[in-house]
Amino acid sequence: MADRLTPERRSWNMSRIRGKNTKPELLVRRLLHAKGYRYRLHGTAGKSRLPGRPDLVFAGRRKVIFINGCFWHFHDCRVGQHAPKVNAAFWEAKRTRTKDRDADQRQRLMAAGWEVLTVWECELKDGSALEAHLVEFLGARQADALQTYSRQAHSRKAPPAGS
Ligand SMILES: [Zn+2]
Repeated sequence: MADRLTPERRSWNMSRIRGKNTKPELLVRRLLHAKGYRYRLHGTAGKSRLPGRPDLVFAGRRKVIFINGCFWHFHDCRVGQHAPKVNAAFWEAKRTRTKDRDADQRQRLMAAGWEVLTVWECELKDGSALEAHLVEFLGARQADALQTYSRQAHSRKAPPAGS
């Protein structure tokens, strides 16, 4: 992807539209929808609003997913750990606050019996790894298990090696 925005500028742009169908969020939603998972958006379960308003809520499974930008949420990766030279103290303080708030919200969700997964922007590059990660967290759907079984039973190719 050719773009001339610095990582911090790009994440800042994303943060401004957070909660409004960001590109990473749409990508994850499309993937899950294609796999047959159904979810609610933006932090509601019944009448209650969940801490941090998670991007995706799987109320029946009592699981939630956050999709976080690496820079903004201070991820432990190259983009996340990049320190802007301009306004360094401002960014450091702002991102530290965001990270602390994320941890607090996660604690509150877990205390209320929710399982929490954070999907990082940097994980979106590898679609198959992301998919495996999501399925592992959510648990396979029964229909998927049956489909996989019948695909393998009829496949001309050898089934993939077990992981
Ligand atoms: Zn990252």
